[in-house]
Amino acid sequence: MQDTLLYEYLLGLKSPWSVSRVNLDVKEQRVDVWAEHPDNAAWACPQCSKTLPLYDHAEERTWRHLDSCQFQTHLHARIPRVECPEHGVVQVGVPWAGPRSRFTLLFERLAIDVLSQCDVTGATRILRISWDEAWGLMQRAVKRGQERKQAKVVRRIGVDEKAAAKGHRYLTLVCDLDDGTVEHIAEDRKQDSLAGYYAGLSEKQLNGIEVVAMDMWQPYIQATLAKVPGAAGKIVFDRFHVMGYIGKAVDTVRRQEHQELMASGDEMLKGSKHLWLYSWENVPEWRRNAFNALRRQELKTGRGWAIKETLRRLWHFVYPEAGRKFWKRWYFWATHSRLEPIKAAAETIRRHIDNILTYYQHPVTNAMSEGLNSKIQKIKSMACGFRNMENFKTAIYFHCGGLDLYPC
Ligand SMILES: [Zn+2]
Repeated sequence: MQDTLLYEYLLGLKSPWSVSRVNLDVKEQRVDVWAEHPDNAAWACPQCSKTLPLYDHAEERTWRHLDSCQFQTHLHARIPRVECPEHGVVQVGVPWAGPRSRFTLLFERLAIDVLSQCDVTGATRILRISWDEAWGLMQRAVKRGQERKQAKVVRRIGVDEKAAAKGHRYLTLVCDLDDGTVEHIAEDRKQDSLAGYYAGLSEKQLNGIEVVAMDMWQPYIQATLAKVPGAAGKIVFDRFHVMGYIGKAVDTVRRQEHQELMASGDEMLKGSKHLWLYSWENVPEWRRNAFNALRRQELKTGRGWAIKETLRRLWHFVYPEAGRKFWKRWYFWATHSRLEPIKAAAETIRRHIDNILTYYQHPVTNAMSEGLNSKIQKIKSMACGFRNMENFKTAIYFHCGGLDLYPC
């Protein structure tokens, strides 16, 4: 087989295109392939598909293709232009690459596969492309995916904030809790950050929202109340966030008590911080005995811990009335505990209790599904090189957007 024919086959070129020349440079480990066409070929206007004769050619362009073994392979061609009566002089499309891309479709497909399996730095090495080229590929893939994406009704939404970088910059993430995909990313965590998502939805989509799981965060609450019909009964404050508040209060009690004890030389609470934060069943086996001994010491921290652990039962009820009854008993206990941090946390929870108890109608647990959350953490930790926020967003959509990323 001739090398020109071989490359026609490898590139999948079809009439009127054929390979005119192949140049192999062993020293540079590089193959260059030129595609051409007969002068009398007819072309379609890229906008109206009208068949037209050749007008002239644009400058020669180069596309990176899949390597031929270890040889980097580049395709060269001059793109024909046609003169359409309606659209003027325009470049026609080429079958091997998308408009304005510097890579062939097959190379882009490979790059997307590689980029979805490893971090950007690794991908640049494997694919032998530059950092900017890698990000360009990802951005184009995300854009393509978003343009293709069909509007769907997201029934169960999770709203979460992510610290994006040092200096407390935040992103607001809106997730589809059923599909485990990130639907929307906005900068900051203000009312507008979330309102922007709702603004992009149709009436049907807004009406289709059944649950919005979120943290007890006023700007998100306000945005949802303003835009989602019947939001008051649809917001569910995330159970882990609620437990986070009371856990923090227990920690404050411990810190204060530890200081008091240390003043009289008592080191009893030293090194116990995490024991009190664990859920009971998660206390490591080897520390169980020590922890049980501590709990028998009638410490304030022990009291706070028992109040925290008991609150977890709130999410075990099936009947709302039973849950509400339990809540009232717990609230009474917490507010009469003489532990100020616990009382303050109990107050915060009380202010939001109606939308904590909506859990019984809509038992959603985590604002963001666990799998998705760990994926985003991984993206963040690989981000030794997110040089800007846009790249971080692109990476989240690329890996978690559930988008169809491939070129056609
Ligand atoms: Zn036209």
